[in-house]
This record gives sequence, C-alpha cells and structure tokens, in this order.
Amino acid sequence: MVKKMEELISFLKTNGFVFQGSEIYGGLANSWDYGPLGAQIKLNLKNLWWDFFIKSNPYNVGLDSSILLNNKVWKASGHIDGFNDPLVDCKNCQSRWRADKLIEEKFPEVNAAKMSYQELEDFLKTKEIKCPKCGKTDFTPIRNFGLMFKTQQGVLEDENSVVYLRPETAQGIFINFKNVQRSLRKKLPFGIGQMGKSFRNEITPGNFIFRTREFEQMELEFFFAPDDQTDWFAYWMTMVKKFLVEVLQLDESNFRFRAHDQTELAHYSTQTVDVEFDFPFGWGELWGIANRGNFDLTQHIQNSAADLTYLDPTTNQKIIPYVIEPSVGLERLLLAIFCQFYVIEELKDGTSREVLKLPRALAPYLVSVMPLQKNLAQPSQKIYADLLASGINATYDETGNVGKRYRRQDAIGTPFVITYDYDSETDQKVTLRDRDTMEQTRVKINDLVDYLKR
Ligand code: ATP
Repeated sequence: MVKKMEELISFLKTNGFVFQGSEIYGGLANSWDYGPLGAQIKLNLKNLWWDFFIKSNPYNVGLDSSILLNNKVWKASGHIDGFNDPLVDCKNCQSRWRADKLIEEKFPEVNAAKMSYQELEDFLKTKEIKCPKCGKTDFTPIRNFGLMFKTQQGVLEDENSVVYLRPETAQGIFINFKNVQRSLRKKLPFGIGQMGKSFRNEITPGNFIFRTREFEQMELEFFFAPDDQTDWFAYWMTMVKKFLVEVLQLDESNFRFRAHDQTELAHYSTQTVDVEFDFPFGWGELWGIANRGNFDLTQHIQNSAADLTYLDPTTNQKIIPYVIEPSVGLERLLLAIFCQFYVIEELKDGTSREVLKLPRALAPYLVSVMPLQKNLAQPSQKIYADLLASGINATYDETGNVGKRYRRQDAIGTPFVITYDYDSETDQKVTLRDRDTMEQTRVKINDLVDYLKR
C-alpha cells in the first residue's frame, strides 16, 4: 500500500495517468486531467462496473439521463433547500473551512454533521479549534453554503434561466422510473443504474482525486415492493463486496463496512452503510449503500403531475416502491486501486522496481510488444498489428534497452511483455514475460492470441 500521497501523485503524473488540470495556466485548484493511461483505466473500471451491476445482473438495466434537469427536480429532492454545508472563514488569514469537518478532524468521535449552526459555532469557540492554515481561533459566524453549481440556460439572464449542474446522478433515475418500468415492462424488483458526471461546489476539496468539484458517479437505484421480505440491503452489500474483492481484487484488509448510527443518517435514509477504504490520509468513504425508502418517488409524486406509482400485477394495488442505493465515485475507486496496486518491490539483486499490479481487466494495456534490437522491428510490428486486429489491447515499444523497457511496462501495469529476438526468426516463438512473477516463457507466435485471451 502507498504510504505517501505525494509519491503516488508524482508517479501518476510521470507515467501519463493523471495531470494537474489547466496546468499550463497555473492550474485550476483541485481539478485533474486524465492522461492516455488514466483515461483507459477509467474506461476499464466503468466497463467492469457496468458489466457486473447492469449487464450480468438479472434485475438491472441502464440509463443515461441529462446533467441539467428542471429545477423542480432539485426542489422536490430537497437539494435546493437542504444541500448545504456550514461555511466559516478564518478572520485572520481569510481561509475558508467546513465547520463540521474542522471539528471532526480534531474530535473524530463527535458527529458534527448533525449539529445545528449555533452548536457548531459554540463548539468551535469553547474547544478553541484552530485554523489549520494559520493556527488562530477566530472564525466568522457560520454561513449556509449551497453546494450546487448554478448556471444559466438560454440567452436570457434572468431568474427563470437558472439551472443547476446535477450534484448526483440518482435523481435522473427517479424521474425516469416510470419511463423505464413501462417501456421495458419491468416487474419489481428491478434496478436502474447509471454513471456520469456530478458536480459539487465543495468547500474543502482535496486529497488529490478523493474529493473534487467535478467527478463521476456510478449509481444504482434498486426498486422493490414494500412487502418484499427479501433482505435486499444485505444482497447489495454482498454484491458490492464481491465486486471489490473478486472483480477489482482489492484486499479485504484495506476496506471495511461502517454502519451509520441513527444521528448520522441523511434525511432520506433509514439505513446507510459506507464502505471505507484505508487511504494514506486515513479511512475515507468509498461507496455508500443507503436505504432511501420511498422518499424520492414520494417527493416527485407530490411535486409533479406524474403518477410514479407501480401497479402490483398480483394484488392490483398501486404501490410506491422502496429503494436501496449503492453509490460510488469513479475517481475514489480509482484512487483506492492506485493506492493498493502501486508497489515498489525490492528485487533479489538489490535493485527495486515500480510495479502497478493491476488486475488484467483494469490494465491500460494487456501486452507490450518489443523487438530485442531495432533491426527486428518489422516482424515485431507485424505481431503488434495482428494482436490489435484480434482485439487485444497492445502497445509497442522499441526505445531503450530491454531491461528499461520491462521496467516501464511494469510501472504502467502491463501484465505481459512479448520480446521478439533472433531465435524467433527460426523457431517462430517469442519470449513472454509475466509482470508479477517476471518469469519468461517461450510461446509460439501463432498461439499468442489464445494465450493472451485465456
Ligand atoms: P462525503 O461525505 O465524502 O462528502 P457523501 O456522503 O456526500 O460523501 P454521497 O452523496 O453518498 O457522498 O455520494 C456517493 C459517492 O460519490 C461517495 O461515496 C463518493 O464515492 C462519491 N463522491 C461524493 N462526493 C464526491 C466528491 N466531491 N469527489 C469525488 N467523489 C465524490
């Protein structure tokens, strides 16, 4: 496991995974761009989530709803009135903080998220909590800070043109519940999942890609009848764990399930369990699994003219389904993956190597093809082209000595390297090196595709 974030960030930048956003203009605070390898690994991760939670799950279907929604959606969901954080400024250095986070960092046992603004102010004062930047204890009164990004739609800049960038993908699912149910003739229980960008004007973003203002979510809303006796919450907890352990190969000792106590629950939730990951900066929420009851559908029924109820075909009764929501941030999951799989390995000969021990399905490239010497480039490139044509995600590398090229591929997580050498000319075999064991085997060129697709 990575111990220091700075080491990981520098590694990811050097190797083309993540760059600072708007870097050539001095950056834009807490924004990150994903380089060629980062973009590929993100896509692989999204595909794995989609395959596991949508394509291969018997209950679920997918959706891709808009980022900009009618303001009435956010009014009904409670975001316009309630999606706020308590903001304080340090009077001395003018830095801005979330009052509840200042308290929780100093007193982790305190649940500051549930305190009233008056209680937060009193707590800051009586416990003499210091500004993390300048160490002074003089803060402004708390102000309500709306987390949704506001923008304008259309040419007129008046009140009616205001729209918000969605702070979660979930509401796009709730408002389409009936569309999906009717058009696909779905019967309860069933789930609707989607992934896409969400935006939150976080007061204190940070810890690299852990908390940003623009991020991607992968959310599932699973609808079931109120009288369904199945423990769907337990089912989805098991599925999330299965995905983390069996698909992503995350080590069970690196994450834990933590149930919210009654005081911590969000207004819409009757039960919430967070999956927390042991990041270098401490345990942090990775995945939230919430029982949202029928809160959202009820709100939209009351605030729109739509009938979002479900007609139970056996009882002929109209019901409002209950919902379990497993929701995860793509970049947080990616950070957990980087933290676990980036290792610096000491070798027997006293040297060390950087390896990204990614599972095959996540690796940006499955295989790298290289000629032993540049004069063997032509047949090597033929193998490379054939692999690409067979749908194998391959790369080609002929610069530097072979040892260096191996190290480069280890660092970007390529599970296999194929080397074409002088013997290949006669025996029509190549050397296939395994990233993790570093073992080398001779494989017939004609068998490569089968071997790699195993
Ligand atoms: P936090 O307490 O960390 O702010 P949250 O409880 O508000 O998170 P949810 O609203 O439950 O988060 O969102 C579901 C998931 O979306 C989180 O578990 C997390 O993985 C991801 N997420 C939420 N906010 C951010 C953010 N600002 N940056 C990156 N990912 C985020």
